[in-house]
Parts: sequence; C-alpha cells; structure tokens
Amino acid sequence: MVKVPTKLVTWDEIVEWSMGLSEVIKRSEFKPDVVVAVSRGGYVPARLICDFLLVDNLVSLQSQHWTEAAKVAEKAIIKFPYKIELSDHRVLLVDDIVDTGDTLILARDFILSEWRPRELKIAALQWISPVAKIKPDFYYIEVKDWIWFQYPWTRHEDTAQFIKRIIVEEKEKKEWTLSELEAKFRDSYGIYVGDKYFKLALRTLVELGMLKEENNKYLVRSL
Ligand code: ADP
Repeated sequence: MVKVPTKLVTWDEIVEWSMGLSEVIKRSEFKPDVVVAVSRGGYVPARLICDFLLVDNLVSLQSQHWTEAAKVAEKAIIKFPYKIELSDHRVLLVDDIVDTGDTLILARDFILSEWRPRELKIAALQWISPVAKIKPDFYYIEVKDWIWFQYPWTRHEDTAQFIKRIIVEEKEKKEWTLSELEAKFRDSYGIYVGDKYFKLALRTLVELGMLKEENNKYLVRSL
C-alpha cells in the first residue's frame, strides 16, 4: 500500500519562507546581483527573493532528474546548457529544496566552470540535512526527517502522479468512484489538495487515456 509522508505547502507559506530566507541572506551581507533559479523548482522562490532583495537580474538553468514525484531519482543532467558571461557578478543560485543535492551540485559546477562568476552562493527554502550531499549557504528550514513537500507549483502534476500510483498499486481493481479515490488518496498521502485540483488531475488521467469516466465511475484503461 502506498504510504508517503507528505506535507501540503500553501502559497502563504512560500511567501513567508522566501521572506525569511531573504532575511537570512541579508544578515550575511552577501549581496547578489544575479539570481539563478534552478528550473523548475527554484522559479517561484527565486522570483520572490529578487523582490525581497531588490535584485533585477534573474536567469535560470534547468538541472533535472528523470524522476516522478516522491520517488528516488536517477541521474541529473543540465537540460539546456548555454553560456553567459558572469565574471563581474555575484551569483545566488536558488532552489526550493536540497534533497539529495544532486541537481544543485550539477548546476553549481556548471555555473562555476561555464559562467565563471566572481562569487557564487546557494540558497534553498528547505534543506533535508540527513540525506543532502551539500549544505546550502543559506536556507530557511532544516528538515530532519525526509518528507515529500507538495509545493503549490506542482500540485496538479503531483496529484495526477499520486492518483496514478494508487491505481497502479491496486491493479486488480478496475473501477473506482470519486469518493473511493479521494479516501485512498487521503489514506496514502495524508493531505487534501482540494476538489479543483483533484478533479483536474483526474481529467488529465482521462486525457492521457489511463482512465475513462463512465456513469460516475472511473474505469482503469492502460497504465
Ligand atoms: P536537490 O538537487 O535540490 O537536492 P534533488 O536533486 O533531490 O534536489 O531534487 C530535484 C528537485 O526535485 C528539487 O529541486 C525539488 O523541486 C524536487 N524535490 C526533491 N525532493 C523533494 C521533496 N522531498 N519534496 C518536494 N520536492 C522535492
């Protein structure tokens, strides 16, 4: 049975954490003039940090695992490598969370060797200290027990994947009602993503051909 410790993170918490992280950076007296968002998780925190620290320059770099939500990831790659000149700049590399740290290590090493900034520091809203291979220079929350943070910017994608995982795991069950799926979701992940997101994710699974909606039931097709 799927049981993943998950915390639903709200938009308000993201603003509060990004503001708190910006205060940590300010206190350090490090003054970045370019923020680099690690795509995709670092986008929102990076944009908020630019606002709180009044930084104009925001670029991004996509460092990615081929992975699914809440699953152990494989190899990390820089998806679209490109070159910019940053030798006069102080760079702040921003991500949402340092979990294994693999994608951040790759992004950091790429920037240091290809973009050659004058200085580079790393900031993340959260740092999972027991599993991370690196400690960010700045973080707002230290997480001591691994958990999946359901951030607001992956709510649709995560919900669809979580529902899919439930269906895959109970593959002998070929028909689900909405309330059965909702109950199982809550039981497996312990969170409530809201009706709009749950129905949107179900619609997506129908569009992808995994489910078919018929007489108020969801019939399992191909998985
Ligand atoms: P990092 O390189 O930041 O440690 P990983 O390589 O482990 O991160 O994962 C890459 C991305 O996957 C993270 O930036 C984040 O968007 C997402 N992610 C990883 N672990 C978690 C988690 N425990 N909760 C939510 N999102 C996560």
